[in-house]
Amino acid sequence: MSERFLVTGGAGYVGSHLVLALLDRGDEVVVIDNLRTGHRAALPAGVRLVVGDAGDPALLDAVLGEGGWSAAFHFASLSLVGESMREPYRYLLENAATGIRLIEACVRHGVRRFVLSSTANLFDQADRDLIDETTPIVPGSPYGESKHMVERALLWADRIHGLRSACLRYFNAAGADPQGRIGEDHDPETHLIPLAIDAALGRIPPLNVFGDDYPTPDGTCVRDYIHVADLADAHLRVLDVLTTRSATYNLGNGRGHSVREVIDTVGRIAGRPVPHVVAGRRAGDPATLVAGSARMRAETGWTPRHASLDDIVATAHAWRLAHPGGYGAN
Ligand code: UDP
Repeated sequence: MSERFLVTGGAGYVGSHLVLALLDRGDEVVVIDNLRTGHRAALPAGVRLVVGDAGDPALLDAVLGEGGWSAAFHFASLSLVGESMREPYRYLLENAATGIRLIEACVRHGVRRFVLSSTANLFDQADRDLIDETTPIVPGSPYGESKHMVERALLWADRIHGLRSACLRYFNAAGADPQGRIGEDHDPETHLIPLAIDAALGRIPPLNVFGDDYPTPDGTCVRDYIHVADLADAHLRVLDVLTTRSATYNLGNGRGHSVREVIDTVGRIAGRPVPHVVAGRRAGDPATLVAGSARMRAETGWTPRHASLDDIVATAHAWRLAHPGGYGAN
């Protein structure tokens, strides 16, 4: 039977891939997105878009008051680590306030399940190779701290009101819909894979490699890239868990790739080398972030279907090749 879901930030990169997965299985979706970074064109026909802030109490009352919600998925957020190091209070205030207002409205309108888009930026200076859910939380930036604040608010919403929640800490979301319907389009783009692709295609100046003196095998930062369609699938799978309890999961492939490896892979798939220069380190970047996702696999049966870096880069490359200007203006 078809269910009804609220997706805040559903016009954004990861959110839009979840919206597509929900529609593909026949569910009804309502998106709240202020379109500051999201794209109307990322939403397929059949989705109702309410343009506004996910932390606007009047708007939330109007939308959530319609009732019949199976769950709320919360993506709407400022999400750039580097920017948050320059504008810490904006990140702390806006992300925490939006999340807490949404949680409060969900409780008031009887929504029983809540899924939070969280981050690996909770784990600066991890004390182990695979970062799992028992790794101590040390946010690496005000962005990570703001997500942690919302995670904590969810803990209290569960204890006091019984709102069941899943906090999904993504490592590096990457790739695009394997059918090519939607992809990644940020303005400005700051993420490694789309920038490396555009540099290879000659659309932008050479890529800056942010530091080659890290304590990693080739000196560049190591990240765990996880396909955005596998992240969308993870959101669907946690819904079953949430019928009985709250949960927290770290989501990645459990395998790290250095910036140089990404550059080599993009060059091979694009058929042209990625022009690049070594620049200084970027503030807030830990040397290595690799997920331990055994809990998610064991408890939900989740198995990433696009785990290889080749697959991730190939889907991203296909979308950017077909959409030189991204989605265009809203
Ligand atoms: N990176 C880089 N040059 C760029 C963008 C990113 O060297 O132009 C590096 C960055 O320092 C990090 C990795 O690529 O080690 C992934 O960065 P991204 O911004 O894609 O994701 P993040 O790890 O910040 O979530």
